[in-house]
Amino acid sequence: MLPHFEASLDFAQQLDKLDPLSDFKNQFHFPQHKGQSAIYFCGNSLGLQPKSVATAVETELTTWKELAVGGYFNGPNPWLHYQEYLKPSLAKLVGAKEIEVSAMNALTVNLHLLMLSFYRPTKDRFKIIMEAGAFPSDQYAVETLVKHFGLNPSEAIIEIAPLEGKKTLSTDQIVNTIEELGDTLSMVLFGGINYYTGQFFDLKAITHATHKVGAIAGFDLAHVTGNIPLSLHEWEVDFAAWCSYKYLNAGPGAVGGFFIHEKHAVNPTIPRLAGWWGNDEKERFKMEKGFIPKTNASGWNISTAQVFNMVGLKASLSIIELADINRIREKSIVLTAYLAFLLNQLDRISFEIITPEDKDQRGAQLSLYFKERAKEIHQKLIDNGVIVDYREPGVIRVAPAPLYCSFEDVFKFYEILKTNF
Ligand SMILES: *Cc1c(COP(=O)(O)O)cnc(C)c1O
Repeated sequence: MLPHFEASLDFAQQLDKLDPLSDFKNQFHFPQHKGQSAIYFCGNSLGLQPKSVATAVETELTTWKELAVGGYFNGPNPWLHYQEYLKPSLAKLVGAKEIEVSAMNALTVNLHLLMLSFYRPTKDRFKIIMEAGAFPSDQYAVETLVKHFGLNPSEAIIEIAPLEGKKTLSTDQIVNTIEELGDTLSMVLFGGINYYTGQFFDLKAITHATHKVGAIAGFDLAHVTGNIPLSLHEWEVDFAAWCSYKYLNAGPGAVGGFFIHEKHAVNPTIPRLAGWWGNDEKERFKMEKGFIPKTNASGWNISTAQVFNMVGLKASLSIIELADINRIREKSIVLTAYLAFLLNQLDRISFEIITPEDKDQRGAQLSLYFKERAKEIHQKLIDNGVIVDYREPGVIRVAPAPLYCSFEDVFKFYEILKTNF
């Protein structure tokens, strides 16, 4: 149940006092604006730096300095097993078994690798469903994937666009498209949350419908992991990948994570592009011919653990673990609803919140569509120490990440808009 909201600083501060996560913001560095911490509503693009990261990096630098190659086996976090340290937290965040998750590379690379394992087009079954207006990197990945198989993107890729007059999709519309394609459908590759509209899709319903026609369900969870808790194992999602620099606060270009459902992860016959880090560890250093995959998600790992690009992730995951993703989500629902409530009080600027109103169809982010003055409003926010991003045409995305944003931040944001426009 949401509280009865009020548009006052007092009320916002009351909510902060009642918030069990309010102290977590002290664990992060904030960009400064005129000598004060900025209001940072851009965690959907790049999460803030946890203060613990610097020491964590220092630790690995010291291990490298003092132990050199010995760091793989000794030191505080032997590098040989670096992925293993991340698995318990990653598994909890996405609702998986530890054997179903791992970390490597970056998001788009992982999407390519997973799609190469699971997209097995035949003469009759080769179509891929995506949401129209998917993140560009995902569009390029799927386009080049089908070309790689000698197929024509305009025939193989089916994009689902909002109906006339709508900004977002309904689950029925998605399910109907899946059913219509039936046994010509090979794979669904959907964003979990659309980066532009902020709409969170019903992954369970999409997966169920996809399996009913005998196809594979894969998701890009860039905007979901660390934002909304999931149950990927229970929903029987086939595969998923995400980046670690948005709501996971692991730093720019941090190593991404991925999920492969147990039923596939344990199966060594699933085709994949391999490297030694995915090989059975008992055999790895024998340096013999013949790839023997690990029988878990790490069987998809390829290269040596990128330790320095995982240090931030390890540090950040331990903060998220303490905060607990379910409590993060509980706060987030109220925080974003408060933001929506305040925005709806503004009557002198004209805009539309294109993100769904239903809490089950959105995470932390609200996307505001301004028919006019969007750039001017964006600039005014920046001049007043608010960091949000702007996407053509005329959308300002506002994402109060609950780990380090407060109700007072949301109120101040509203006040800046109210006094300036
Ligand atoms: C952020 C984001 C990406 C970025 O991919 P990288 O390979 O990490 O650069 C891709 N897809 C979606 C949906 C995103 O939100």
